[in-house]
Amino acid sequence: MSQHSQLDAPLKITFLGTGTSHGIPVIGCECEVCQSPEPFDKRLRSAVLIDYKNTKIAIDCGPDFRSQMLREKVKHLDALILTHEHRDHIAGLDDIRVFNYKKNGPFDIFCHHRVADNIRQGWSYIFQPNPYPGIPSINFSYIDRDSFAVGELHIEPVKLIHYKLEVLGFRIGNFAYLTDVSAIPDESFEKLKGLKAVVIGALRQTPHISHFSLSQAIEAANKIKADRTYFIHMSHDMGLHHKVQQQLPPNMYLSYDGLQLSI
Ligand SMILES: [Zn+2]
Ligand SMILES: [Zn+2]
Repeated sequence: MSQHSQLDAPLKITFLGTGTSHGIPVIGCECEVCQSPEPFDKRLRSAVLIDYKNTKIAIDCGPDFRSQMLREKVKHLDALILTHEHRDHIAGLDDIRVFNYKKNGPFDIFCHHRVADNIRQGWSYIFQPNPYPGIPSINFSYIDRDSFAVGELHIEPVKLIHYKLEVLGFRIGNFAYLTDVSAIPDESFEKLKGLKAVVIGALRQTPHISHFSLSQAIEAANKIKADRTYFIHMSHDMGLHHKVQQQLPPNMYLSYDGLQLSI
């Protein structure tokens, strides 16, 4: 019945990072979250790895990309899909070089043309006429509102508002990833029906200009009504993982680095 493409094999999701732009611990911070010895309280910058049959992609490529690829022992990556151009989501781009060497060719990046323009400025050395040897090589595919495919994955962009910036969330089968969001347009809620799992950015307990607070994210989750909801992009102001988790509604979870889902 659903207009969304159904998957015929499990979709494996690995949370590469679940922190906001500073990561947790924050440099020089002595708060109880940053000082917590609990692995659940250590958060690299937000990104996920998606595995489906023979296709492996990452959504976003922040400054922790290299350590995330090493931790998850990623040997092969087909493409990157980018939500938006903020540095906590693209700062790791220089490290895609290893995948260029393996492939002996340019690496596929799917993003909005505005994001590609931003990368051309920020990584201008990559796009010069006679580039220095050994630098990354990128093949951009522009995405906006229309569905697209990467290998065997069919991906549907979902428009989100991040303060004044339009950013992309993504739906893949019955899974959706929505980071860096302060408002979800009605047309996007329409695209988020019948999900088994949704990932939503929730910065902290108190309101913020460009991110959902935890209560706003819970409100959005209650409207989306996925079987399970996982929160990401958390700052140290969210509080200790185990304490906040105890206060969440049923079937809602704070995500953590290294968590895997099979959908
Ligand atoms: Zn952002
Ligand atoms: Zn961010």
